[in-house]
Amino acid sequence: MADQRPSGHHGLPALLQALSRTENGCAWLLLGLAIGGLGWTWLGMQYGSGWWRQLLPTSPIGIIIHHSASPATAEGQEVDVHLIDRWHERRGFARAGEDRTYHVGYHYVILPDGTIQRGRPEHMRGAHCEGHNDQLGICLVGNFSSSANPHGRYGPNRPTEAQLAALDHLLERLIRRYGFTPANIHRHRDYAPTACPGDGLPFERVVREAFR
Ligand SMILES: [Zn+2]
Repeated sequence: MADQRPSGHHGLPALLQALSRTENGCAWLLLGLAIGGLGWTWLGMQYGSGWWRQLLPTSPIGIIIHHSASPATAEGQEVDVHLIDRWHERRGFARAGEDRTYHVGYHYVILPDGTIQRGRPEHMRGAHCEGHNDQLGICLVGNFSSSANPHGRYGPNRPTEAQLAALDHLLERLIRRYGFTPANIHRHRDYAPTACPGDGLPFERVVREAFR
């Protein structure tokens, strides 16, 4: 029978024992680095590549996609960031910015022709999804719900290709800027009992293409 020492004398316990006897500070430094590395890896797994940004209070922690649930025109004019600003003023979403007061609760509005309009600044807390306004809000103008807009009576019941291309462009920029992962991209209906942004918006495709 081979001479087998008890396994407790091998491996990590033995290493720690050896380290505790040495007076060489370098070994302790190496052990510290190893533990630090494990901790760093754990943090990375928990929070993704952008975890450190989440520690900054003014930095958004994700993106929520909405539709305006409106036709492309309302009240005799094109539905855009200015009209939504007025709608949200009536709902009391005001927030003071450095340059002016913002009512629009979204950070971006995308028109049917693919124009991207700025809403409130990215560092300003949103007003678009209760309990989750630490995320950026992007609103596509239109009503993409097959139950609320089944026959396209309120305009096209899916986003235009120009809108989807603009959304892809905007998402890619924001994903790079904040280090988001697919887990950081949401629909309004992931958080609230609403159809928003409607089943006509191909959400899975949008996320897949944004992370290509
Ligand atoms: Zn919404």
